[in-house]
Amino acid sequence: MRWKETTYSGWGRAIKAHGEVARPEKVAALNAIMADAPAPAIGNRRSYGDTALNNGGQATDMTRLDRFLNFDFETGLLEAEAGATIGDILNTFGPKGWMPAVIPGTGFATLGGCIANDVHGKNHQIAGSFGQHVESILLVGAAGKPQRVSLKRNAPLFRATIGGLGQTGVILTARIRLAKCSGGTMAVQERRMADLDSFMDGFSESNAAYSVGWIDTTASGVNLGRGILEEANISTGEFSAPRKVRSIPFNAPGFLMSKPVIKLFNKLYMRRIPSDGRDRERPLNDFFFPLDRILNWNRLYGKHGFHQFQCVLPHDTARTKLTKLLEEISNSGLCSPLSVLKQLGAGRGGMMSFPMEGMTLAVDIANKRQAPALLARLNDIALSGKGRVYLAKDSSLDPAYLSGMNLELAHYRETVAKADPEAIFATSQSRRLNLRGDT
Ligand SMILES: Cc1cc2nc3c(=O)[nH]c(=O)nc-3n(C[C@H](O)[C@H](O)[C@H](O)COP(=O)(O)OP(=O)(O)OC[C@H]3O[C@@H](n4cnc5c(N)ncnc54)[C@H](O)[C@@H]3O)c2cc1C
Repeated sequence: MRWKETTYSGWGRAIKAHGEVARPEKVAALNAIMADAPAPAIGNRRSYGDTALNNGGQATDMTRLDRFLNFDFETGLLEAEAGATIGDILNTFGPKGWMPAVIPGTGFATLGGCIANDVHGKNHQIAGSFGQHVESILLVGAAGKPQRVSLKRNAPLFRATIGGLGQTGVILTARIRLAKCSGGTMAVQERRMADLDSFMDGFSESNAAYSVGWIDTTASGVNLGRGILEEANISTGEFSAPRKVRSIPFNAPGFLMSKPVIKLFNKLYMRRIPSDGRDRERPLNDFFFPLDRILNWNRLYGKHGFHQFQCVLPHDTARTKLTKLLEEISNSGLCSPLSVLKQLGAGRGGMMSFPMEGMTLAVDIANKRQAPALLARLNDIALSGKGRVYLAKDSSLDPAYLSGMNLELAHYRETVAKADPEAIFATSQSRRLNLRGDT
């Protein structure tokens, strides 16, 4: 297998890694790697920080192992290689009446990445997390031999793999249960929310299958927490293929993400929606993957990149802690136009899974000098509200906070140590956070 020495990064481009990456196209080539020099798997690197990096070591890029192996049209059970993307699954099976039960905000996320981060979608309250729809996983561990794991066959290893950030081995294939897709479009209702209270009430009163909020993180005072709530249900329009993607060919200049520009952009974006709201029919791809049409939108943050902070707060602390988070972000001048508020249910598939019943806030933060201090304050506020920080997005968490995130950390560490005693699958993030508890 050819290893290529390269410098690469996660989606935020703020943290880089240098090392050898192999990109096997055939299972035989992957097997050769696993027998000879096993290395942690990476997908399409849509995680923002250092989750999918192995600085100074090797990594196995799984994106060419992307075949569909089996599909049962009666039950919706799909077996696919780990590099298959969520977008491919939606666009292949959607027109035939089936879709992924859980869809993250980018179609470029791979099946392996969605399992390893136990991702959530805009229907988390109803559908739970991605891992809850995984029937079984073919996992290649440190010994190089594939083994099938499921809730029935080695439940601890299965639950340490779902949301387990790649630490138990390489996911070669997985069997997932697709959900019925009753139409090719989404009926979307968009309404302006005047402030945080209205926003949170809007979420709790919503009966829609899918809901998500865009939040104006430049707003302050009486407007703090204002934004747009989108509620949607699958509708019966024709399924359409994704629209042509465009690319941003260069890093944008710094002023583009300056506070006055973003404030103005957010004000206009808010006004896009009439004061009495609007209803529209949207293609599934546009609704689920609104940012995917611009291929390298992460270049908008300039050459230094950006961080994403995402946390979830339980309902009892959400209002006060979200207020504090939004005040910090708005005062910092580092906010971005891409900020999301969502409600989550309790569903989670693994020991380290992110979801918790409550509200989740995700905010992009330009990688400027003041960013580390801001991120530290945001992490503090989230943890003081008994919340969790999403490791798929993280680049800054203090390792000491892991034990306060109400994860099944001890069980995870014990299972990972058994599966990979020599830490072959350790990554930049697992070392930074001492995820495995071995340092
Ligand atoms: C625009 C955008 C919107 C997003 N929206 C959401 C959202 O709504 N909800 C949400 O939950 N997330 C969301 N994300 C985050 C994204 O869905 C996750 O980070 C996802 O895991 C990325 O998948 P990937 O294939 O790029 O994995 P990578 O980022 O490459 O890797 C992620 C982790 O998976 C492990 N991994 C990857 N493949 C394998 C494998 N075959 N075997 C074992 N381990 C593996 C890696 O080691 C790493 O730990 C979003 C990201 C973007 C850029």
